[in-house]
Amino acid sequence: MKKYTEDIKLFLKSEFGKAIENASEQEIYFALSKAIMADLTENWEKTKLDYSKEKQAFYFSAEFLMGRTLGNNLMNLNLYHSIQDELDALGIKLNTLEELEEDAGLGNGGLGRLAACFLDSAATMNVPVNGYGIRYDYGIFKQYFENGFQKEMADNWLKNGDPWSIRKVKEAVTVHFEDGDVLAVPYDTPIVGYGTNNINTLRLWKAEPIVPFDFDLFNDQEYDESVAKKNRAEDISRVLYPNDSTNEGKILRLKQQYFFVSASLQELVRKFKESHGKHFEKFPEYIAVQLNDTHPVVGIPELIRILVDEEHLTFKKAWQIAKETFAYTNHTILNEALEKWWVGFYKELLPRIYEIIDKLDKQFVHELKELGYTKELIKSMRIIQDNMIHMAYLAIYGTKATNGVAALHTEILKNQELKDWYELYPNRFQNKTNGITQRRWLLLSNKQLSGFITELLGSEKWVTDLSEVKKLEQFADDSAILNKFISIKKEKKAELASYILEAEGIEIDPNSIFDIQIKRLHEYKRQLLSAFQILNLYFDIKENPQIDVVPRTFIFGAKAAPGYFRAKGIIKFINEIAKLVNTDKDVNGRIKVVFVSNYRVSYAEKLFPAADLSEQISTAGKEASGTGNMKFMLNGTPTIGTLDGANVEIVEEAGLENNYIFGAEVDELEAIKDTYDPKAIYDAHPRLKKIIDTLIDGTFDDEETGMFEELYNALLVGASWHKADNYFILKDFDSYVEAQKRVDTDYRDQLKWARKCWMNIAGAGKFSSDRTILEYAKDIWNIARIDV
Ligand SMILES: *Cc1c(COP(=O)(O)O)cnc(C)c1O
Repeated sequence: MKKYTEDIKLFLKSEFGKAIENASEQEIYFALSKAIMADLTENWEKTKLDYSKEKQAFYFSAEFLMGRTLGNNLMNLNLYHSIQDELDALGIKLNTLEELEEDAGLGNGGLGRLAACFLDSAATMNVPVNGYGIRYDYGIFKQYFENGFQKEMADNWLKNGDPWSIRKVKEAVTVHFEDGDVLAVPYDTPIVGYGTNNINTLRLWKAEPIVPFDFDLFNDQEYDESVAKKNRAEDISRVLYPNDSTNEGKILRLKQQYFFVSASLQELVRKFKESHGKHFEKFPEYIAVQLNDTHPVVGIPELIRILVDEEHLTFKKAWQIAKETFAYTNHTILNEALEKWWVGFYKELLPRIYEIIDKLDKQFVHELKELGYTKELIKSMRIIQDNMIHMAYLAIYGTKATNGVAALHTEILKNQELKDWYELYPNRFQNKTNGITQRRWLLLSNKQLSGFITELLGSEKWVTDLSEVKKLEQFADDSAILNKFISIKKEKKAELASYILEAEGIEIDPNSIFDIQIKRLHEYKRQLLSAFQILNLYFDIKENPQIDVVPRTFIFGAKAAPGYFRAKGIIKFINEIAKLVNTDKDVNGRIKVVFVSNYRVSYAEKLFPAADLSEQISTAGKEASGTGNMKFMLNGTPTIGTLDGANVEIVEEAGLENNYIFGAEVDELEAIKDTYDPKAIYDAHPRLKKIIDTLIDGTFDDEETGMFEELYNALLVGASWHKADNYFILKDFDSYVEAQKRVDTDYRDQLKWARKCWMNIAGAGKFSSDRTILEYAKDIWNIARIDV
């Protein structure tokens, strides 16, 4: 095994002008990362060369939620333990260095993390997939609490530099906007697979002015204007939009989308010409582009523009090529998240692109007329409606495949949300159930459990073939093995407890049930239902202080979009409950509520392995897939959840009896949606009434923000844009409480509980993103593995 001490010393000198004795740990982290990077060069270049001869796929995504890189790369390169030993000898803890790395938080949540898991899986599976996106100066905001209220801070993740990317200024591309051109400068990050020579690439574009500095303006003492021009260009890649569901900052966001998509496509066309000349009819034989949600869908008219305006193909040919090149992934059916753009923005900023979209819209209308579609149906399906461009419709029309991200989600697309489209193009619709990489979410984050699994299976094969874990079923009734699992879980809980003490200043008891809900804060995810359930338990204890309950720690982690008033109200409400419950003498430590701050990938890596119970309680039909649910499962955590998203497939694989399914299903909610009367439930249910009334009866203080009253009204009155209790919290309350009682009962029998945990691990094979990426490669991209 290569030794790295000399390389570290060299990089400390060249980067910081320091000997190792004088270097800070931050600097040592940086030098070690640079040393690893340097050693990747040869395989990285070889991979690019080998891939350039074959068909490749490109994953276009406005978000890549990568998290930290050092530990992951060391693990994938099989260097982790040798470097750990080497650093130990120098008196340096590898783990300390890992903790100094800022998360690359260039994504909001599940969608961005999926992109990151896909990159890891593609590299590991030797599948030629490269990512294209935006190099935001500031990623997802940092969250902290003040008096229980969420506050946001800019995420200056580049403040100490980024050792994992290389600026490739020679490959910069000009992107044209009507109000001025900007330069797209690429930064490349190597994607290191596990146990392979293949190194894929994530290429992120940074926006810069074409002319770095307007000398004439400066010379004329127009300093402000000279700087303003630079800033206007750089604004495009300044910051990730911290919003999961709506499109604020509209024009800038549109500019971001077009910026990275145009730069990427211009480059793909240039490289194609270098290898294949102008035989553009072969473009789809060499290039597949996956559109991660609708954010990069402007790529469809942009490719047509390049082929028609710059390469002089006919519109018809260009359209044909675009349709065969692109494929589209749908991630949500939430109405407010279905992206629509006012034509005015497009006309102003991208008039030529607008012209092409308009032409596609008219062409589509013509095609539907030919098929005998009625006027009404055509009106409801066309791409431009009431001066709004419907990006999802453009996406389905302009691609060869549309996929949902879990079986249930795809069925809802086909039978409800996109029914007319499915009838028009039945062969375009596919399902690709999401997955997660077991390298980050088990091998790296839970070394104890990984080691145990490898020992039991007699090999590390599961690291690159997760279906192997099925063989763990044979140990499900072996109490010695289950006891070992219990002790590992205990150890991970103790690790989390000491981290939470350090990070939040709150003490929690590793002997209590760690009941965890971590995900973005959104009404459909129903953190409020959890809050009500906790209050229910609290009132049980208050009414009968002797009641026998298994001690529980409820852990939440979630960021709310800064402008999402209700979501922020729910955070404040949970923090108020924590204040009440955690200090109550009657409770006496039996329940504790902790809302951890700044939930992110690196925090997630500590939370998932330590969980006893996975909260996946979205309103049925609303969570397209979920991937957090899979991370819990892989770490041996039963789910309490609704039959929503991938939960359906999780219980299929792990057994209904090893999880806690409750609540109304999609069909039932569909059937009652017009007659649902939450007020009637409230009036007939004294306990639930008591709980909901805490929002308005002075139990809790929202400091006159009106947040709690607004939540109360959202449940019982509704608002201009939705009916009362839009997400059926009251409807599912009793069934959720009952499921939680079953958890309390079952947890008392430690071996019986551990068996359920174990069956979840054994059932997790399907949920590797290795499986997902191989399905995309075969069914959508039609690309082969390339062994470098
Ligand atoms: C996995 C993950 C998510 C997605 O969680 P869901 O429960 O599927 O919504 C969001 N954020 C982070 C940091 C994650 O690691």
